[in-house]
Amino acid sequence: MLATLSAVVAGTGLAAGGYGYAAMWPTSQIFGRTILAGRDPNEYALTYDDGPNDACTERLLEILARHDVRATFFLIGRFVRERRDLTRRMHAAGHLIGNHTFTHPWLLYQPPSRVHEELASTNAAIEDAIGEKVCYFRPPHGSRRPDVLRTARELGLTPVMWNAMGYDWNPALNPHTILANLDKGLRRNRRNGRGSNLLLHDGGQAGIGQDRAATVAATKALLERAREQDIRFVTIDVWNGDTLKN
Ligand SMILES: [Zn+2]
Repeated sequence: MLATLSAVVAGTGLAAGGYGYAAMWPTSQIFGRTILAGRDPNEYALTYDDGPNDACTERLLEILARHDVRATFFLIGRFVRERRDLTRRMHAAGHLIGNHTFTHPWLLYQPPSRVHEELASTNAAIEDAIGEKVCYFRPPHGSRRPDVLRTARELGLTPVMWNAMGYDWNPALNPHTILANLDKGLRRNRRNGRGSNLLLHDGGQAGIGQDRAATVAATKALLERAREQDIRFVTIDVWNGDTLKN
């Protein structure tokens, strides 16, 4: 009896651990295919979450334009509603605009109806601003669940994760540290023979107006350094259909 009970407990623990891994780990493919990165280590995608965010986004647009680089921006729907013009300018500059939910909740803990509402209202806000269909979605905090991915697909959204992080949501980090964090991922991806999907933040979920100057400076340094290397910057849509499995 005791042996049976501990076997059940152990089994439950394993199942829970496995579920957590699949739901939270950015490179996990267990709950269906998501875009991660391509197969060319010299391809980088700069991706920015939690905007649009006024001055920081504007400064990024300037720097990206100067380097003739297109990035991918995953926008929070409620900020898009407040900053239609900036959203439109991001799209007009050639950047790819994706859905990052309306209020940035942990989708893992939301009922299916709320998940649908978060995604559908953000699609509507972005499409209203840019006049084009939204095709990509990055879940806040990277949290996924089978029905979240199903809902995303029903709404025409392909989920997108990442494989290198600046950890720049932490306001204490300086540009040098953000770049060093990205470099860890870049080196790992190169060793594994894959492209790099770089997660950065031009905004913050708490509200418009947060200071992301360190992210802007880290981006500038990365772009300047890349000019000396054979790096091509892409938007994540070029990797659709070419996603690596882990
Ligand atoms: Zn976010």
